[in-house]
Amino acid sequence: MSTNITHAESLSTHQDQRLSTIFEIAKIIATQQNLETMLADFLSCIIERLTASDAGVMLLYDTSDERLAIRATFGYDLETLRQLRLSPGEATCGITFQTGETQLYPTPQSVTAARRNLTRENRKIVQAATMSTKQVQSAICIPLFIGEANKVGVLMLENQHQPGSFDRDDIPFLEAVADLIALSIENARLRHELQITRSLEEANRLKAELISTLAHEMRTPLTSIKGYSTALLMDELSFRPETQQEFLQIIDEECSVLQDLIHDLLESSIIDAGLLKLEPQPVMLPRIAQDAVDDMAHRSQVHTFVVDFEKGPSSFPIVDADPRRIEQVLRNLLDNAIKYSPEGGLIVVRGEVHENEVIVSVADQGVGIAPEHLNRLFEKFFRVDSGLGRHVVGSGLGLPIARTIVESHGGRIWAESQLGEGSTLYFTLPLEGPSADLKAGGETSG
Ligand code: ADP
Repeated sequence: MSTNITHAESLSTHQDQRLSTIFEIAKIIATQQNLETMLADFLSCIIERLTASDAGVMLLYDTSDERLAIRATFGYDLETLRQLRLSPGEATCGITFQTGETQLYPTPQSVTAARRNLTRENRKIVQAATMSTKQVQSAICIPLFIGEANKVGVLMLENQHQPGSFDRDDIPFLEAVADLIALSIENARLRHELQITRSLEEANRLKAELISTLAHEMRTPLTSIKGYSTALLMDELSFRPETQQEFLQIIDEECSVLQDLIHDLLESSIIDAGLLKLEPQPVMLPRIAQDAVDDMAHRSQVHTFVVDFEKGPSSFPIVDADPRRIEQVLRNLLDNAIKYSPEGGLIVVRGEVHENEVIVSVADQGVGIAPEHLNRLFEKFFRVDSGLGRHVVGSGLGLPIARTIVESHGGRIWAESQLGEGSTLYFTLPLEGPSADLKAGGETSG
């Protein structure tokens, strides 16, 4: 009688374990998007719930080299086992993958026998990974199938304490679990492919947008250059020297516009290719700001420029930054301040010191930006109709470039504005700059 009760109890514990495993697996499928985390969660969920197993691995088939690779482990070091590349037919998991059938290994000897055909390289990796663990006493390997024929990997569960811990009765349940896992692997793969397709589509859309923006932005200055130079070259027309000078001046200015557009474009492609390199050094921001303002002030007769750094230029904290790149950010912001306040007014470059960072701002009294556009200004090619009634030349790349530079320094950039009253663009630089990391790593910045 008591044996019957114990048997019934163990059956219900068994059922409970299985139910709770399925329930947890469903929860992981519903909540986890990342494949690697999902596989690790599946494995630990099964091993923690089923008393028969206390360690295990999950392998996926890599079609690029036609090998099985370990993608999740329980009780083993994943980094060591990641190097393993098993051929179909090689060792316990390879055999399961090749035959497509669940394999039971009830004794340590059966496991050792199945591992006999491990390549020398793989054997070394297995030895390194199992050096500090107990010998496997019993194991079960279940193939991961999608549909009838598409094998995606293998789930291996082990017991390091007890031989014969898995039996035939476990197979239907574990195969059902393996089916769920295989389906979610396929879903993750499809999600990944969809993401790639979407980003390719987005890249194509941006490329088309880039070409049309560029064509549009280049046509205006080119038309003007062509018109004035053709006029100057016409034999039948002769212009007074002042008129000639005026035409040449316009040609020169329009060439500068083209130069700026091409410069932004090149900068943007350098950033896209991940080639933006910072050369940080101790920088006096007030001096850089003054240099940028002195240079840009020549471009406008209708603006008054003010440079106002808290504590005075000589006491403002020195920051660790790439001076050339920070000047580029300031020039972009000043260029916009001038462009988008054609009536003139004050342009103030201010520097403030905060606990862990400095804040630099460029304020103008121009057309302003509507609140719904404020966050989008830093997206590539985003341009707002200035409402000035005429076209303002620009690439829509100046602010995205500025953002990348500022963020590469560990700073932030944002805009505040009142439509019709003016805009202020802010950026921060940390007081511990990028070369602090290099120093912490034992190098010096020279
Ligand atoms: P652009 O070459 O068009 O100036 P940016 O990336 O520098 O490109 O700026 C993106 C858009 O943000 C501009 O087209 C403009 O609509 C808006 N903008 C930027 N700075 C200002 C400013 N100071 N005042 C008003 N609008 C601005």
